[in-house]
Amino acid sequence: MSSYDVIIVGAGPAGTSASIHLASNGFKVLLLEQKKFPREKLCGEFISPECADHFLRLGVEVEMRAADPAEINETTFYSRYGKRIAVPSRWFGGGAAMGLSRARMDQNLLLRARSVGVDVHDGVVVNNPVEGDGKVLGIRAKVDEVEREYRAHITIDATGRARSLARRVKSADTRHARKSKLVAFKAHLSDSRAEPGVCEIYSYKNGYGGLSTIEAGLSNLCFIVTASEVRQAQSDPQLVMRRSVMTNPRAAYTLESARICSDWLSVALESFGRHKPSPAPGLLAIGDSASFIDPFTGSGMLMALESGELVSQLIVRHRDKLNRDEFAELARDYAKAYAQKFDSRLRVSSLLRRVAFQPRLAQGAISICSFSDRFRGWLARSTRATNTRNSLSAPFS
Ligand SMILES: Cc1cc2nc3c(=O)[nH]c(=O)nc-3n(C[C@H](O)[C@H](O)[C@H](O)COP(=O)(O)OP(=O)(O)OC[C@H]3O[C@@H](n4cnc5c(N)ncnc54)[C@H](O)[C@@H]3O)c2cc1C
Repeated sequence: MSSYDVIIVGAGPAGTSASIHLASNGFKVLLLEQKKFPREKLCGEFISPECADHFLRLGVEVEMRAADPAEINETTFYSRYGKRIAVPSRWFGGGAAMGLSRARMDQNLLLRARSVGVDVHDGVVVNNPVEGDGKVLGIRAKVDEVEREYRAHITIDATGRARSLARRVKSADTRHARKSKLVAFKAHLSDSRAEPGVCEIYSYKNGYGGLSTIEAGLSNLCFIVTASEVRQAQSDPQLVMRRSVMTNPRAAYTLESARICSDWLSVALESFGRHKPSPAPGLLAIGDSASFIDPFTGSGMLMALESGELVSQLIVRHRDKLNRDEFAELARDYAKAYAQKFDSRLRVSSLLRRVAFQPRLAQGAISICSFSDRFRGWLARSTRATNTRNSLSAPFS
């Protein structure tokens, strides 16, 4: 049996950021990830401008810039009936957004975690939380061919929408996902007619898609459709793309001459929104494992970085009490800070998603938004940080 201060499962932006902050503050941290890195990941790969400050604090700013990300200055929403509105990236706060593959971004963060002393193991699937006395005591996993038990004061579920630990803990939040009605697809493209510096979002019946430039002059196409449309197209991603995304005239134009230059990735989307940030005694959740914000906001990775930082700040603040089993106080503080920071934007995003899935409503919303820059700016910011008096909204210095 091995002991750590904190065990984190999942090395997406939430897990790596929490691990870097905690190790930099003197904690002994174990980070376990099921995939061998670098690995591709289904995502729009639009990195919101506010992430740059996180990269700076995490010590990966130079590595991210060295990966030569595309600079994205604007997001343009195209309705199915030809209307369009633009949202400049600076309205989100900061400068331009970045377009960078998840393979590269996540690898940079993982390497940084290793370099600040986090004990990192990739290629390790973790599905077994260890429980005792009504709380999570750690996990069991096979590392380097040896099945072992790892114990910690705190275990963090950073496994994204899989919620691999929270789902399996007996005493946890039992809200299980419904059967998936939506499926997302992603591929990298060359020769698309995407406008340089612009992330394009296309509305169509029962879904939406995004086309954005990434490094090496490629574009990333990521879209959501209903599961029934996927069945009707015999699960052929290119056929699904033509029958759904390309019913939007702008998408038909930008994608007409594009060539697919990666494997297609697909994933079922079970639910959006909020779970409990502290699903069980001894267990905390961050990133998508705590809540899944609607992808078209392009802010899921930001929330992952923010919640990784938030949980670390609280653990640092409660440092002296961790040994005395005072988890309940930490969990309460985290749940409160989490709600203050994220609930309002989750509500706004959920409302916008309902509109985005209905072409006529989306057309109406785009028309209304086109009248006022001020309203558009307010709406864009509403999908991001809330101004809160909570002192924890201040980042790690
Ligand atoms: C269609 C779509 C488009 C999106 N587009 C954007 C976008 O353009 N911009 C944006 O900011 N956000 C976007 N998002 C959201 C963004 O991808 C997520 O919010 C973000 O990846 C969450 O980070 P995370 O670290 O919480 O989880 P993840 O990035 O999902 O990382 C979780 C990690 O845990 C690992 N894991 C899972 N189960 C286990 C297990 N049992 N054992 C060990 N490891 C495990 C996984 O392999 C993974 O590496 C999009 C999401 C979707 C679905």
